[in-house]
Amino acid sequence: MENWLIKQAELAPYRPALVYEGRTWNFRQLKTKVHKIAGKLTHFIGKSVKRAGIIADNTPASYFMILAFQQLGVQPVLLNCRLAFSELERQREDAEVLVVFVDDLLKKRFEQRVKSNTHYYFISELDSITSDSPVIIQSFEDDKIASIMYTSGTTGHPHGVLQTFRNHFFSAVGSVFNLGLQIDDQWLCAVPIFHISGLSIMMRSLIYGTGVILVPHFDPVKITKLLAFKHVSLMSVVPIMLKQLLELYPTEGYNESFRTFLLGGAPIDAATLGSCQKKGISVIQSYGMTETCSQVVALNFADAPSKIGSVGKPLFPVQLRINTGKIGEIEVKAPNLVKGYLNDQAGFNDKLTQDGWFRTGDIGNFDKEGFLFIKGRKDEMFISGGENVFPNEVENVYAKVAGIKEIAVIGIPDKRWGQVPYAFVELQDHSKLDAASLKLYGREKLAHYKVPQAFITVDKLPRTANGKLKHSAVREQFSKVIAKLNKEN
Ligand code: ATP
Ligand code: MG
Repeated sequence: MENWLIKQAELAPYRPALVYEGRTWNFRQLKTKVHKIAGKLTHFIGKSVKRAGIIADNTPASYFMILAFQQLGVQPVLLNCRLAFSELERQREDAEVLVVFVDDLLKKRFEQRVKSNTHYYFISELDSITSDSPVIIQSFEDDKIASIMYTSGTTGHPHGVLQTFRNHFFSAVGSVFNLGLQIDDQWLCAVPIFHISGLSIMMRSLIYGTGVILVPHFDPVKITKLLAFKHVSLMSVVPIMLKQLLELYPTEGYNESFRTFLLGGAPIDAATLGSCQKKGISVIQSYGMTETCSQVVALNFADAPSKIGSVGKPLFPVQLRINTGKIGEIEVKAPNLVKGYLNDQAGFNDKLTQDGWFRTGDIGNFDKEGFLFIKGRKDEMFISGGENVFPNEVENVYAKVAGIKEIAVIGIPDKRWGQVPYAFVELQDHSKLDAASLKLYGREKLAHYKVPQAFITVDKLPRTANGKLKHSAVREQFSKVIAKLNKEN
């Protein structure tokens, strides 16, 4: 295919491509800007560099830089700014990257590191650099790597995922066949552009010729104002963002241009979805992963109100199967499924079935009409008295209890039942834990084997850099408490 940026600058030169804090770049201006940076980059890193890293923030500078790498055929390695420096270094070395650009918005955090480490530079260091004429690639070849990013590391160490232009293209196609397209669509991007949730918004914009409204970070008050008064059509959210926006939902509603939230990334509780429905807020649930370059399953507008709790049906280019026919591991085949992990092809191949389907590690089931319901991760599931327990089902039941800020449920060995659920609870300020009433509450809402046998207060639950609960780390972090419980059982 022809280089997407060049193509859109020809097809839709005057359409807004990027909006950031009152400034707008149309596709022609975006191309000019990105190619200018590509020229500076060529001077700075030379012409033979295969990969370069970026610690991006949601700013135009990072946005242009990611696109500039792609224009030069340099593989951008997107590093997560929230990681500890040792983790960043591990990923940089894994990707064999010698030059990493850091967004200037992150100056405070990275100043010392950039000074003392020869591989790191602030993006602004390019300002004073002269340009060499860049060699811009004229076509985006199907199997060329468009981006490399690491999985969230929820279940262990993150994997570097090799995403091709074809993967991004089919991901965008699957999404647009589901959500539809209006030529003046503007997609609000408050999710990080170094994650697939954000990068896929950038890639869709180039493919559809529609705009992105980029915001530097998620501020629910500001976002509510944007949604109420500006031309925003769609916004990608993870559950925690939706919950905060819901609390601020204005009585007059959002601007009439607003079509829907696209929700994904982690499980959500039914109560939040129910509140959205009551208020008339459109939410399209979706399910996907870094390895599939964003969504593979999503609800559609017509079914969303009646299929609350489901993540929808496989998108047009996507095939899904669940082997057991009932509840089981979700397997996927799709043109947006990547072909491998960086430096760990064996690890990727291990996740493929003999006939080439990717085992997602997630457990779910289809209802009679073919709608998918996610039960949880295979790694987190445990068996109590012969019954499967999915921690996130239990956690979701407790999510709305007053006083509970966050809750993590894990299985603890038990002589009689094999394992039993225990809950680790982060309380809201000034709240007290009342284990007896929490148990009673659970018994009303859940089968008895799913009700936690104990509730243990903790200061902070371990999460990944993008806020996902890490059950394996709960076990590690509270190993002493758990060992004591094991003895008692
Ligand atoms: P790692 O693979 O390193 O353990 P990760 O799986 O969290 O981390 P991502 O690719 O960011 O890395 O996340 C994809 C996963 O997020 C999915 O496999 C699934 O477990 C979870 N997920 C995504 N969307 C949903 C959803 N709508 N409901 C429940 N879980 C979801
Ligand atoms: Mg994963």
